[in-house]
Amino acid sequence: MEKTTEKKKSSENKSTDKKKTDTTNAAMNGQEAEAGQTSILETIATQLGCEANKKTIAGDSKLMGRVMSELSGQTLNEALDFLYDEVIDVDILMNMIESRFGVPVVDNRKSTWKKLDSATYQFVSNTKDHGQPIAWSSAALREVYKVYILLPQGDLDQIKCLMHLDDTEYGGAAWGNKNTTIGVYYVNYKKGKETKKETIFAPSHTDNFFDRRNNTIMLDMTTAHELGHVVDGAAGWKYSRKGSAMRDVSKWKETANDPSTVVSAMEKSINGTIYGGKLSDNELELARKVGVRYLKRDQDSFAGKWSTAAATMISDLKAEIKSSKAKVSDADKLGKSITSKNGSSLLYHLWRGQAANSSWYNHSDAMKGMKRPYHQGYKDQEWYTFDKSCWNDKISCYQFRNPKEEFAETYASYHAAPTMGKKKGENTPKGLLDWFISEGLGDAIPEGGNAGVEESSERK
Ligand SMILES: [Zn+2]
Repeated sequence: MEKTTEKKKSSENKSTDKKKTDTTNAAMNGQEAEAGQTSILETIATQLGCEANKKTIAGDSKLMGRVMSELSGQTLNEALDFLYDEVIDVDILMNMIESRFGVPVVDNRKSTWKKLDSATYQFVSNTKDHGQPIAWSSAALREVYKVYILLPQGDLDQIKCLMHLDDTEYGGAAWGNKNTTIGVYYVNYKKGKETKKETIFAPSHTDNFFDRRNNTIMLDMTTAHELGHVVDGAAGWKYSRKGSAMRDVSKWKETANDPSTVVSAMEKSINGTIYGGKLSDNELELARKVGVRYLKRDQDSFAGKWSTAAATMISDLKAEIKSSKAKVSDADKLGKSITSKNGSSLLYHLWRGQAANSSWYNHSDAMKGMKRPYHQGYKDQEWYTFDKSCWNDKISCYQFRNPKEEFAETYASYHAAPTMGKKKGENTPKGLLDWFISEGLGDAIPEGGNAGVEESSERK
């Protein structure tokens, strides 16, 4: 799962000097592809003076080195697209991705960082903040290559650096700041599980964070998802920010991360009467004040620890009673009531809705006793609610973490669909797809033709 899109602030962001085009790096289709591949194999073999055998050429680092140095332009691109899925050598794959898509890929060797521009180099070198980049497996780089073929080159041009930081978990993150992206992102995957698929639970979606509706390969989706953040960030977050037309689809509502505002919005989202109507007005007011105090605390201290949170709330209640000189006959009893763990408990909902508690949106939990979901997207940032009817036609639970994640999931579900034998758009819910197309980010799903390939695309 993805962690966050705004983990770090960048001090500066130089715009890319690469040529921007919006040509999708789409593969050819059907028989055309077969004919094309036969001839590209012959072209390669003739150039190298070797047997026309894909596996032999792709598996031989010396021959692959020669492919990269002796072929050029469109012939080189076609040769690389043809050979990549049989290439084993990690260095060759890293070079192929850079040569074909202009995306610098780095690993634990500082020699691989030299190709970065100075601002990006500085960011990557700052390993205290994000950890040391680690080595890639060739299987992972082949997934990255496969997805990059499907993505618009103009979007790939925004990437300053691709890293891999962890091979014990799934996920990734893209870094940006308030107004833009820094073009650096990472993807994580478990070693040996580079092609692991999401678990499919449709039609009854669950809260499992592996629950994407289309049983997609996780690394493929993450590779495209994080680029979605880069694209959104490079556009000043215009696709997902407040006021964007995308937010109308799931009817997002945003409130500032201001404790009083959050307490009042949470209270309004609770179904029925708060605390089952058992508290006096005076007691209710105290519960609200405790909520405000709680939200001002460091939320990380209470992540996953409800009993710690509840104990702190009870001690805050006592402090509040003392300072406000409120008349309460039994503070311990009231403390127990306001920290009850049921559906109408304001304080319980404030705790479970905070971003530090969960890195993805957990629907069952969020909806217990609620009219509407109400939760925080990222730590120290805004809180959100959306139209719960969208839940049943979702791309993933993760989509509902906040609008930025909904955009990234929409972007990934659209562009990565062909890796699952679908046409672009076939994996995207209609409302979001219509919006995506209306922004000029994609095309309508073509009728007929072969699934798994880009329609009517011209290679350039
Ligand atoms: Zn994300």
